[in-house]
Amino acid sequence: MIVTCNPYFNCGSCYSCRRGLVNCCTHNETMGVQREGAFAEYISMPYERIYDGQGLEPRILSLIEPFCISSHAVNRADVREGDRVLVMGSGTIGLLAAVAAAIRGGEVYISDISEEKLAFAEKMGIRHTILNRSKEALLEAVSQATDGDYFDVCIEATGVPEAFVDCIDAAAFQGRIVDVGVSKRNADFRYTEIQRKELNIMGSRAALKTDFLQTIQWVKEGKADLSRIISREYPMEKAEEAFKDLDANSSEILKMIFKF
Ligand SMILES: [Zn+2]
Repeated sequence: MIVTCNPYFNCGSCYSCRRGLVNCCTHNETMGVQREGAFAEYISMPYERIYDGQGLEPRILSLIEPFCISSHAVNRADVREGDRVLVMGSGTIGLLAAVAAAIRGGEVYISDISEEKLAFAEKMGIRHTILNRSKEALLEAVSQATDGDYFDVCIEATGVPEAFVDCIDAAAFQGRIVDVGVSKRNADFRYTEIQRKELNIMGSRAALKTDFLQTIQWVKEGKADLSRIISREYPMEKAEEAFKDLDANSSEILKMIFKF
């Protein structure tokens, strides 16, 4: 059986773990971040972290984990049929969030500063795109797209603080905003907007077992074509070249995979 696995190791005893919020473990150790990753021919995994790949190809199963990150963010926003959803950022996580939100019945718009990335999003089946030329242009497009209502859900998937502030401005009153992007910079915004618009602002961190099982099922049912996310494939022996290529072409490459 070909499988995929959950790489977010949790401690099992902190307050989050005791409440079943294992993705929010205060001692979280993600593989490839706080602990060794999977660039190896063999790794060992606890049985309960391994999920049946349902017959999907290994190269596709390798993309389930990023899809889970996006899907978890969409679940946090509780996207429902007919919700108008704006995803800020058309990188891998943003694109896959747009795909997950569309599967859940949302009317999805995706925004980016790059025309190439938006063209790619269109190829992934996201029909509505907004080129983020300036704050004014973005908000004008937001108003037009929603007949002046603004968005029910805004998902920040860029890791740029200004995009988080754009989410606050693009959300409808009582809108849901989910931050899945990660930044080291601070955001500067009028926080009273949260009160004035009665906004619901949430974070999204890692993913749960249910996200893995859900995304594997969606891919199996043909609701998402993850093969499009793979920009390049390399044999493991060419790993050094692959990372140099990624550095030099980061705007063109979404995900690259290594073959063992
Ligand atoms: Zn814990």
